[in-house]
Parts: sequence; C-alpha cells; structure tokens
Amino acid sequence: MLPLKEKDKPIIRKLLAAGCCARCVLRFCCLSVHSAYRRPQQETLRELQEFIRDAEDTTSQAEDNKSHDAAAAATVEPCEDPPSKRAKLEPDTGEAEGDAGDAAGPRVCVACLGVLQELSGASQAKKIAEAVKAETYEFDSLVLSVSLPAQLCVREHSCWLHVKKELREKSIAVDKDDLIQVKEAFKWVMQDLVAKELGGVAVVTKSFFEVGVEFSHPETEADCHFLASVCPDCFHPTKNKQSVFTRMAVVKALEKISEDKFLKHYPSPPGAPSSCCISQDVQCLHVSVFVAGRYNKFCRSLPQTPWLINGERMMESSVEELIAANILSSFRADGFNFSSSGREDVDVRTLGDGRPFAMELLNPHRTKFSRAEMKQLQQTINESTDKIRVRDLQVVTREAMSRMKEGEEEKTKSYTALVWTQKALQMEDLAFIDDIKDLTLDQKTPLRVLHRRALAVRQRVVHSMSARLLDTHHFYLSLKTQAGTYIKEFVHGDFGRTKPNMCELLKTDTDILELDVESVDVDWPPSIPE
Ligand code: ZN
Repeated sequence: MLPLKEKDKPIIRKLLAAGCCARCVLRFCCLSVHSAYRRPQQETLRELQEFIRDAEDTTSQAEDNKSHDAAAAATVEPCEDPPSKRAKLEPDTGEAEGDAGDAAGPRVCVACLGVLQELSGASQAKKIAEAVKAETYEFDSLVLSVSLPAQLCVREHSCWLHVKKELREKSIAVDKDDLIQVKEAFKWVMQDLVAKELGGVAVVTKSFFEVGVEFSHPETEADCHFLASVCPDCFHPTKNKQSVFTRMAVVKALEKISEDKFLKHYPSPPGAPSSCCISQDVQCLHVSVFVAGRYNKFCRSLPQTPWLINGERMMESSVEELIAANILSSFRADGFNFSSSGREDVDVRTLGDGRPFAMELLNPHRTKFSRAEMKQLQQTINESTDKIRVRDLQVVTREAMSRMKEGEEEKTKSYTALVWTQKALQMEDLAFIDDIKDLTLDQKTPLRVLHRRALAVRQRVVHSMSARLLDTHHFYLSLKTQAGTYIKEFVHGDFGRTKPNMCELLKTDTDILELDVESVDVDWPPSIPE
C-alpha cells in the first residue's frame, strides 16, 4: 500500500489526467518513501486509480463524456480543470521494458519525458553497469549523477501550476520545494539495480567515483525558448556551452517569471511528447589522485616542462614527461598537472636529495598502490632514463600537496656555480668571499625572464658563500640563499640589474659557466627509507 493521504487525491486525479506517469504523481504527492518508486509502475498506477476511485464514484457521472485526451487539453490555452475522469479511463498502461516512444507503446510522461518510465529500470541499469565495467576502474563505491534536459524544469513548473490552484482552493499547503525531484526519484529506482549489476558495489551519495547518466530530448528543446524573450537577463551566451538554455539559467528564469506570464506563454499542463528521452553515453570520472616525490636532474639540456616556441618543441623531452610517463600508465590516468618547489633552468642540474614535486593525476582508473608497488614504480621510472632520478615517490592528499608551496619564499636553497673571472684569482679573493654573510641583494627582474614576469625589484638574501679554486681564472662558488634568488644574475650582474653582484665584489668581469642546485630545503614530502 502506498502511504497516500486524502489531500493527495486532487493531485493524483489532475496529474494522471494530464498525462503524468505514476512515479511523477508520487513525486508531486511529495512521497519520499524510496521503495514506493521501486515498485513496478503498472502496480503503482493501478493503486493510484483505486485510491481516487472511491471519491469519484460519488461525483457526477455526467462528467464522463467530457473526458478528452490530455494531449489535446495541453495544446489549448491554460484551461479550466480538465475532467478528472480521465484517470479512470487511462488507456495503455502496459509497461514493456525496452524502447519507449513507440507510438503503440505506453504514453510518454509529460513531466519526466520517460526518464522515470522505461529509462528507470533493469535494462537501463544493465546498460549503465556495462559501461562502467568496460572502463575497468578500481572503486569500492560510486555515486550516480544524473543530467536532465533543461526543459524538464519548464514542464515541472507547468505541472506544478496545474495542481497548485486547486490545492490553494482546498487550503492544502504544499511547497514546490517539497516535491521530489526527477533526479532523486531516478536514483531511488536505479541505485540498487546498478549496485546489483556491478556485483554489490555500494551506490552512495558521496564517492570518489562518479558515474554520470545524461538524458536529452530534442523534440521538446523549444519548450525553453519563450523564457529568453520573457526573461532575457537570465540567458547569456557562455563559452563551452552549446546552448544558452542551461539548467541553471532556466531555473533562475522560472523563479523570476510570474505565474500569469508563464501561463500566457506555456500550456499547463504541458503538451504530450511523442518520444521518450534519449540516454547519452555513460560518463565515468574518478577524482584526482596526487603523487609526490623528489627528483634529481643530471642533464644540462633538459627543461622542466615541455619547452615550446611558437608551438615547436625545442627539446625532445622534459623532467615532467620523464617522470609522468610511467606514473600515467600505472594509474591509467587521462592526464596530469605537474608542480614543484621552484624550478631550475634547462642547463641547471638538480643534485643532492632533489627537488620536491607533486603531480595531480586526472581521472585515474587505478588508484590503490601499496608501498611496494610505489617503490616498484619508482624503480621503473629510474630505469627508464639516466637524465633524471626520482625518490620518495608516494601517494599524498590534495591538502598535503599545499605544504610544498607553503612559506616557499622563506626556505633556503643551496647551489654550486662554476665561475670564470677575467683577472687572475688570488687566495685573498677566495677568503674575502668566504667571509661574506647574509648579503642582501636588490634584484631587478632579469632580462631573460622579463618577457613573462613583471618588472620589479626583489630583495633576496645570500646567507653564506664559500669558494674553491679550480685554476687561476675559475673557481667553484657554493651558496646558501633565500629561495627565489637569481643566482646567474648575482654572478654576472645582469648589466647592473642585480646589486651587489660578483663583478662588483671581486672588481673584475665574472661569468657563470655551470650551475647545480645542491639542495632544496623543503621538508615535504616525507622521505621514504630506501
Ligand atoms: Zn514521469
């Protein structure tokens, strides 16, 4: 037995007559018992008809001959109450699974356009499950998301206005917000069926794995069009959207438009469609997984990210690509976003413990990796190239990833530079350099990055330096500096844009021949013992 109340009777009568399906009638009765929607529609319909019959038997039989097709009623101007006997005479209630919209088949619901009829059932569940299985995702639970054609909101509103007047006359208080949404009812019907098809996986309201079902209904797309002339403010062309009639815009317009205006432009109840909604391809999406680690770079001709000039590749590979290739294939992800704690120039090596990096893996199909598997993956990456090396490879959370960028400016970095001097070096020069502590530099944006960075003067601190003689015109300069210091510019001076600089300090022309990053002092991600 459906838990219906006396006050539901006028709603049931009006909506059945208007051409609503049994489940939509339950929605408008604000019935939130999930199991009621899972029953076969035909059974529900029969019970609804029984329920309203008691009342009808006492009303005038004369109204019988006034019955006419709901579709016909819908095409006339907003009309008086259609004859209520329609429900009793409801013809084809056959509920064959399979293609809807068949002229000889059951009538397509004016409110849900078939979504809660043939598109909510075992065969649809099977179709969804097949699509999920085909993509071989790794998941424990899934959330079902439903995308409905925007005109369903218009039709819902029309049905609502159709019952509202009578409810008000009978002093029955119903709020439009209490109606059960088509989306909700669809999920209530489908969740268990899909779960069963997928061997008992939990279909829940929150999950990392989303299965999207989308319906369209080309036949009634024009239902929304009158809103654009009545409420032009609500509709703006947006990028990436095929139509201005997005669900959001339509909902907004329906909130703004007066009942009278709506009824002037759109029939209530809505007209009968001849076809059922079309279900589009099922879209599966797993939320991103994040992987972090540290990398060394041993090569002086490798950019960190693909180096393109006018769309043309300048170097055959990059640090991020060398790291990503094996990770992407292991997680079977669609793509990635790479970030790191600072970056080195193409000709700079990164030695020591390496530079922290993190990667967001987009739509990963596989997500669970044991420590041993991550270690194996790291080894595979390291065996694939001698240009880079990865350590501490691990799965991290999105939140943890922000730690890498936290207080980046305050961190220190250590470098070694090979420096050339025009004058012959004396031991006093090296001692002089060794004695310099906490030297503050004013660095104008370097000429070489001026095309992509704003012109500014930044203050950076060189905490300490030490020099080791190589020959009379060359020495190794080790520096410990604040993160973000431009080392090359500090050595050659950048035409006086960095002050002080090594030329000024040594009173001769100097240049930088090689640069290595020795350490990036960011204590994230946690190190993993080898
Ligand atoms: Zn319906």
